[in-house]
Amino acid sequence: AQPVLAVVGRPNVGKSTLVNRILGRREAVVQDVPGVTRDRVAYDAYWSGRRFTLVDTGGWEPDATGLQAAVAAQAEMAMQTADAVLLVVDATVGATTTEETVARVLRRSKKPVLLAANKVDDDRLLADTASLWSLGLGEPHPVSALHGRSSGDLLDAVVAAL
Ligand code: GDP
Ligand code: MG
Repeated sequence: AQPVLAVVGRPNVGKSTLVNRILGRREAVVQDVPGVTRDRVAYDAYWSGRRFTLVDTGGWEPDATGLQAAVAAQAEMAMQTADAVLLVVDATVGATTTEETVARVLRRSKKPVLLAANKVDDDRLLADTASLWSLGLGEPHPVSALHGRSSGDLLDAVVAAL
């Protein structure tokens, strides 16, 4: 079976936009992946000669009170079911306590974890992404899912990790 990359992060950081960006204009195939529930949608993705399954932990919208625990549970689940995890952070907001909690969960993972600093729509935001090194998940990859900026660099890192 092809490797599975799970995309996790707080609501509204741009997970689904990034998934759509990665899928490009190709037909998104919804897959039947074991452990994938209704709120997690799997697609066939392809980059640089590598096929992988992309899991958007999407439709899941906890209320604000349960957010931190819910995102941590989401990360835990992703860690167990995927071959690699992509944590998406909104670079215009930076790392919140939710991301710090999730990072703590993900740092325990033996599997590769990648960090995307999304919504870096222009160069002025690049400086802010450096603060995300503090999450201890390695290099933050600045991207703009909306405009497609640098998503190729992120995908190069993804397929190298898978
Ligand atoms: P999700 O809840 O994490 O799946 O986030 P969505 O993909 O639904 O995006 C939430 C909002 O952020 C939407 O209004 C998107 O248009 C916006 N968004 C996503 N990516 C970017 C980006 O790179 N730049 C900007 N400025 N907005 C973005
Ligand atoms: Mg979504």
